[in-house]
Amino acid sequence: MATSIQRQLVVFDFDWSLADQDSDRWVFEVLAPELRRKMKTLKLDMQWTDIVALLLHELHDKGGSRDDIEGALRKMPFHPAMIRGVQALKAKSNPSTHFLCLSNANIVFISTILKDKGLDSLFDEVVTNPAEWDASGLLKLRRKIDPAGPQHQCAVGCSPNMCKGEELEAFLARHRPDFDRVIYVGDGSNDFCPILRLRSQDMVLCRRHRGLHKLITAYEGDETFADDRRVKAEVRYWTGAWEVEEIFGSL
Ligand SMILES: [Mg+2]
Ligand SMILES: [Zn+2]
Repeated sequence: MATSIQRQLVVFDFDWSLADQDSDRWVFEVLAPELRRKMKTLKLDMQWTDIVALLLHELHDKGGSRDDIEGALRKMPFHPAMIRGVQALKAKSNPSTHFLCLSNANIVFISTILKDKGLDSLFDEVVTNPAEWDASGLLKLRRKIDPAGPQHQCAVGCSPNMCKGEELEAFLARHRPDFDRVIYVGDGSNDFCPILRLRSQDMVLCRRHRGLHKLITAYEGDETFADDRRVKAEVRYWTGAWEVEEIFGSL
């Protein structure tokens, strides 16, 4: 089967998947731990992107600058094996590999980190929440899906800001013909919706001990579990980025 794969797509979640940390939490852990604490209380009854947007405002009010935020992002943990792994895979011509990033972080956090790691040309597209610096150095963050407009139709449980499954399908529709294989690298419960849409020839690289791992293993051995909530693709598990590099090397 491997010989029939000429064109493949690697889809990366960003936090705890491509990067070895969660960028939304990290920025506040580094610059304002009291706001990091506040995240936990707000999380009980507020949408996540809205929380980060609010706390970026509060950080700005406390004097947190654009330089501070960019500096924190540049020193966020990022495994050298992940950089090697994606660069080696992208350099191979047979099969040819396209890359898509699907993330609930935001475009400024992601592009700042990618640029620092020399990966700014890795992805064909980065699909995430929009954000921009204003003249005063405030990072203005918004949900990808405007809360005032039409909402996504996801029944799996994606956050209102974005359905990763719908975004994956929209990307695939923009990049016909179908890829011979899709490989999805993820860790979180919000990666469950897109991987349910993968085919049997596709592959999931699931990080152990996090939300996605729990959702996949929850139904293993349960014959009565609904078929539309089971992953059809092959699932491989990893803990450290060196294992992703190893799997990429064997594709
Ligand atoms: Mg993640
Ligand atoms: Zn969804």
